[in-house]
Amino acid sequence: WKKMCDIHFKGPNVMITGTPGTGKTTLCSQLVEQTGLNLISIGELAKDNNFYGEYDSELQSYELDEDKVIDEIDECMKEGGNVVDYHGCDFFPERWFDAVFVLRTDNTVLYERLEKRNYSQRKIQENVQCEIMRVVLDEALDSYKSEIVYELESDTPDHMEQNLATIKNWIEKWKSEHRQILE
Ligand code: ADP
Ligand code: MG
Repeated sequence: WKKMCDIHFKGPNVMITGTPGTGKTTLCSQLVEQTGLNLISIGELAKDNNFYGEYDSELQSYELDEDKVIDEIDECMKEGGNVVDYHGCDFFPERWFDAVFVLRTDNTVLYERLEKRNYSQRKIQENVQCEIMRVVLDEALDSYKSEIVYELESDTPDHMEQNLATIKNWIEKWKSEHRQILE
């Protein structure tokens, strides 16, 4: 019966999103190490399975085949207990996520991080602009109930530690509130 319904019996599903360079992958790897939740990196999943569509010359990258991504991880997401790492969140089924954490970074800090990645000037500018316009935060607020969307500052290593603690606390609270359905 468990697979038939939307009860996340393996734990909560947590989305970690934000503009590239805000610290999603760093945070996610520590989070799964410390909680035992399952990591789903949408970027890695797409790369491994070639879930790409058309080349977008504007963005200088291939479009993600969102339908294939959803089909691939639907079963796993229905069971719960996943941490999802991606710079977008508007195409997933809303019921998948119990919390959406949006990492935010100061413009100049983000600029320097992206420069270290050897991104082109254009790609750096686009991403910094995206952060200034709070594109990912608005996308999260448009796609999910505002009660489950959390904005987290991610400028310094101290912020990283604080964010880890915040998310781990949130997970513990969720688990204590859903004790009767957890395996
Ligand atoms: P994303 O996955 O969002 O693109 P990453 O986790 O790859 O971001 O982080 C990009 C770079 O910024 C890495 O070098 C990482 O060490 C650094 N970084 C990320 N978050 C922070 C933070 N809160 N404080 C200091 N450095 C950070
Ligand atoms: Mg990343």
